[in-house]
Amino acid sequence: MNQCPRAWILKYGFTKNRGTFNRHLRNIADWSTPWRLMQRALRGVIIDRLECHSNQKVWIEKDLASKIRHRIIGAIYRQKPVIEVVEKRIGSKSQLRSKIRNSEIDRLVEIACYRYHAAMKTEPISMILDGRISVWYTFSRLEKSKFDKFQLHLAPDLVWFRGNSCHLMRFTVQGVSNPGDDRMLENMAMVTWAEAKQGLPYKAERFVVENLYWSRGRWNLWSNRANSKLVLDSSKMILKDMNAMIELHDRLGTSCDLSQIPLAASKRICRNCGHRDTCPGGEDLVRARLEQSALEMAKASK
Ligand code: SF4
Repeated sequence: MNQCPRAWILKYGFTKNRGTFNRHLRNIADWSTPWRLMQRALRGVIIDRLECHSNQKVWIEKDLASKIRHRIIGAIYRQKPVIEVVEKRIGSKSQLRSKIRNSEIDRLVEIACYRYHAAMKTEPISMILDGRISVWYTFSRLEKSKFDKFQLHLAPDLVWFRGNSCHLMRFTVQGVSNPGDDRMLENMAMVTWAEAKQGLPYKAERFVVENLYWSRGRWNLWSNRANSKLVLDSSKMILKDMNAMIELHDRLGTSCDLSQIPLAASKRICRNCGHRDTCPGGEDLVRARLEQSALEMAKASK
């Protein structure tokens, strides 16, 4: 939501209208650039590799590039109907429709393979594959957990035990230069998920929260032992964010007035957004923001 409140509202703000309109909005919001699709494909093959190991299935390493290629091409293909919906709406060619050259796909596959091989050498993945970590599980981030009155995605990607500690880890395939305090607290929410899970410890101090993230050409492992204060701070931060989202949603009003909803903080965010054909920010973010603040000032002076 921080990156663009309007994009967030377009994705989640109309969920009460269960019809096709809402489905279209969500699909458009989920549209992703080939780069983003490469990152998802990479995450998918890492999880596949671990699940294959867990189920003692044979993993054919020489198929890696074709697995990644299939995932990227499949995702591009599945996005086509979304672009058609946008084009029907605007009556012209969408900015989302760009011809992706084979050489571009080759380059993305090469990058993903490189990152995959690097990931296999990092801990804890290498330790799982060579048996040094024997008790471990993968989980789906799509799993929702009850949090106060909300249903949120709090699950980790990977859980493992070492000594008396239970490790909860997420992969962040999108580059981040520095995880920062907010992200650290966000990660602590995995402990809230784990405490409610049968078979896992119930004391915050027994968890180590980790994030394996790609930054500056390599995988980095961020790790922090949990404690009840950090978990409480994390819950407070999430509740504050949820309340800010509710407040933003209320600004839509019964007339669903999108002009009240702030636009993206930078053009870079618009370049990766599925709504850029139909949103004033997608056309000219600077002008759209100026027009919006002029409108707000005019309203306030009434
Ligand atoms: S085009 Fe830009 S301002 Fe508009 S919804 Fe997308 S990210 Fe937000």
